[in-house]
Amino acid sequence: MGKPTGFKEYDRKKVAWRLPVVRLNDYGEIYTEAKVDHLRQQGARCMDCGVPFCQSGTGCPIDNLIPEWNDLVYQNRWKEASERLHKTNNFPEFTGRTCPAPCEGACVLGITDPPVTIKNIENAIIDRAWEEGWLPPTPPETRTGKKVAIVGSGPAGLAAADQLNSVGHEVTIYERANRIGGLLQYGIPNMKLGKDVLQRRLDKLAAEGIRFVTGVNVGKDLDPKELLNANDALLLACGATKPRDLPIPGRDAKGVHFAMEFLTANTMHKVHGDALNGQFLSAEGKDVIVIGGGDTGTDCIATSLRHGCRSLANFELLPKPPADRAPDNPWPEWPRIFRVDYGHEEAAANFGKDPREYQILSKEFLADKQGSLTGIRTVQVSWEKGEKGWQMQEVPGSEKDWPAQLILLAMGFLGPEQYIADSLGVAMDTRSNFDARHGQFTTSIPGVFAAGDCRRGQSLVVWAINEGRGAARAIDQYLRGHSTLPAPGVSMGSQLVS
Ligand SMILES: Cc1cc2nc3c(=O)[nH]c(=O)nc-3n(C[C@H](O)[C@H](O)[C@H](O)COP(=O)(O)OP(=O)(O)OC[C@H]3O[C@@H](n4cnc5c(N)ncnc54)[C@H](O)[C@@H]3O)c2cc1C
Ligand code: SF4
Repeated sequence: MGKPTGFKEYDRKKVAWRLPVVRLNDYGEIYTEAKVDHLRQQGARCMDCGVPFCQSGTGCPIDNLIPEWNDLVYQNRWKEASERLHKTNNFPEFTGRTCPAPCEGACVLGITDPPVTIKNIENAIIDRAWEEGWLPPTPPETRTGKKVAIVGSGPAGLAAADQLNSVGHEVTIYERANRIGGLLQYGIPNMKLGKDVLQRRLDKLAAEGIRFVTGVNVGKDLDPKELLNANDALLLACGATKPRDLPIPGRDAKGVHFAMEFLTANTMHKVHGDALNGQFLSAEGKDVIVIGGGDTGTDCIATSLRHGCRSLANFELLPKPPADRAPDNPWPEWPRIFRVDYGHEEAAANFGKDPREYQILSKEFLADKQGSLTGIRTVQVSWEKGEKGWQMQEVPGSEKDWPAQLILLAMGFLGPEQYIADSLGVAMDTRSNFDARHGQFTTSIPGVFAAGDCRRGQSLVVWAINEGRGAARAIDQYLRGHSTLPAPGVSMGSQLVS
């Protein structure tokens, strides 16, 4: 364990982010470098509590061996900590930066005190491992002669590829975008996940023998049936890319966009400059409204601020969450409490107030005679719990018009796009995802598997890794009749989405 009395001696202290007024001037990562002594002290707070709720159950979806690496960090044994971390997590640098850390919500110390800073420690271990050169490419010593094609290069596809390649299968990932990474590349902005951090992992995977084919839209440029015939198994890891729309009057006004149109174009602009991207959407000088919260909403806020927007508001339909856990949300569940993410902190630093407006229902987009967006009409709502659960009521006389020249819809996603399912004839479930059970990952077509957001619906990077690892084991069993790959658990923290 860490230090037996560590949790009594040291307070929780997170590794600081860069100051909002400084980081708003660039697209660099928001994090500062963690000091070794600081991390060792924080690792020492781990109580080795006997039943580590942090690493399973409602905690970490990939069963990270958290108390073990907390202890190794406390003992200054960083290389071993990295080895322990890689036993369960293919990409700790992605989760260490982007994970909402359900592990911390389930930390036993959290019953009485602030939890251990698990995510910070994870990130520091992996950053150190890269810096020290402890992660050279390790291609498999033998090949099985079996070939697997994966459609989609997000964290689910990458984790599956890494696992399958490690036991000797030949893996090719097909990606319709011009770069590999899925939402790690063109969704999550540079501020949260630097693209150099992604690239060094992709270079390692390529050096270990995984083939990447970009610019191929499977189902349009390439028949997935051909892909299945040419390979021994096919994994669909296409993500949940169909955005939820807001079909209220005025939806066709020029200036209403899906969040991903805005975010993808922005990151492409950063990566490729103007030459490759005529679609760049600027928020400069505009009154911007982001409809919907979550990670996507926060990223829209942070990106609009960096463009130099004139004003910013973020609408949420639900009430403001409580400051502390409500009685029906006890430990070790994920705490549904008010949080200030990096974008909210930056908006407050820039405009003097948090941008979030709660219990707002959008009624109509407003436009001028040329069809250009001028604003949005909203109404306040109240929520009452009745016999049929929570009921929403419009508050009479609470209509309001807000000026806006750019409105971004960040209201979630509705599963994968239909064309690949149609061209393969694969069955969908009632939530419009590929129909496949967690743990088995098999679809209605023999030899075709599904994992990640396209199977479970919009979720998290850590869940995509869980699913990629699980699907790899299922595919390995299908190909060889047995598998030596580990099976990630089925954590109960599955309700948490980005
Ligand atoms: C803006 C935003 C911010 C987020 N921030 C966070 C965060 O901070 N923390 C967190 O944990 N989660 C976050 N998430 C969620 C997280 O990114 C996803 O849950 C995760 O990336 C899902 O991984 P995946 O591999 O299933 O799919 P994706 O990452 O979506 O990758 C799917 C890939 O498949 C490709 N593809 C689709 N169809 C085809 C086809 N027919 N042919 C070829 N290629 C195809 C797509 O182009 C894409 O590259 C965020 C999501 C968004 C949208
Ligand atoms: S992957 Fe997420 S839940 Fe698991 S240890 Fe890291 S921060 Fe915690």
